[in-house]
Amino acid sequence: MKKKENIVLEVKNLQTHFLTDAGVVKAVDGVSFSVSEGETIGIVGESGSGKSVTNLSIMKLIPSPPGKIVGGEVIFEGQNILDLSEKELREIRGNKISMIFQDPMTSLNPFLKISTQMIETIRLHNKDVSKREAKERSIKLLEDVGIPAARKRIDNYPHQFSGGMRQRVMIAIALSCKAEVLIADEPTTALDVTIQAQILELIQNISKKHKTSVILITHDLGVVAGMCDEVCVMYAGRIVEKSLTDDLYKKPLHPYTEGLIKSVPRMDITDKKDKLFSIEGQPPNVINLPPCCPFHPRCHKAMDVCRCAYPLKNDFDGHEVSCWLYSTDEEKEEALKNAGEN
Ligand code: SF4
Repeated sequence: MKKKENIVLEVKNLQTHFLTDAGVVKAVDGVSFSVSEGETIGIVGESGSGKSVTNLSIMKLIPSPPGKIVGGEVIFEGQNILDLSEKELREIRGNKISMIFQDPMTSLNPFLKISTQMIETIRLHNKDVSKREAKERSIKLLEDVGIPAARKRIDNYPHQFSGGMRQRVMIAIALSCKAEVLIADEPTTALDVTIQAQILELIQNISKKHKTSVILITHDLGVVAGMCDEVCVMYAGRIVEKSLTDDLYKKPLHPYTEGLIKSVPRMDITDKKDKLFSIEGQPPNVINLPPCCPFHPRCHKAMDVCRCAYPLKNDFDGHEVSCWLYSTDEEKEEALKNAGEN
């Protein structure tokens, strides 16, 4: 795989833990990835895999206590944003790095008109912009994201918009400060399929037009296929497979990824006898996880070594996978020996 160029944001060995009465939850445990200018990267996994915590950690939005970023770096514009003060971070959040959440109603203030919310956001980050200019800019943004009669609708309240339209408004707000990175956390989960497709297309067009880097968090590999250049598959707080999207679909290496791909419904399989595949079992409880492959109770290829040591990472020309299937016999024997000694 070609070395990445124009990296805008780089996450290095990020670790976010939650200290609970039951034990330490390693929600994110050594996650690394980067996103280049104009690139869309997908972070995929089941609920509880750590994908949303990863992205909240990037913005330092983890509630503390009980959460704590205990290690790693998030490099943006040459600095580790995890070292910045709250005041410095406010300059970045919503301005250079924006987030779109699953439910726009959690981000929009139901008591304020859309115009008020957009104008405030624009003027918060651009102090020299007048209210009038900010309103004109807001109308243009609403038109760009496909809100009909934007000049009139800008003075509506959030509840006067449908779910899809509210998500468009959120995207317009996220774009209002020309963010370099857009983090979209399950942006279409609450929407019906047709609107889902429109919103994803909108994000794609924005990324192309403004060279915005996009981090898309989803549990849906079907969404990733149509949108992302690269995919990170997360399981139990770690990235278990990372590769270019085409390579991942053509040749998934990790048994979990294989299962996820098989569980995507396909229009070309119409035989009613072919039941839709599902991965048996449940994701593990990540409190005090033992040092083994956390997928082993659900994996049909599990071996002895999988039950006693976390797999080594292998890199096949940029296609990374953490699974014992790709380690040498010597590596597996050594892991078994070390596990026996401990
Ligand atoms: Fe399955 Fe073992 Fe690979 Fe884990 S390490 S995914 S248990 S084969």
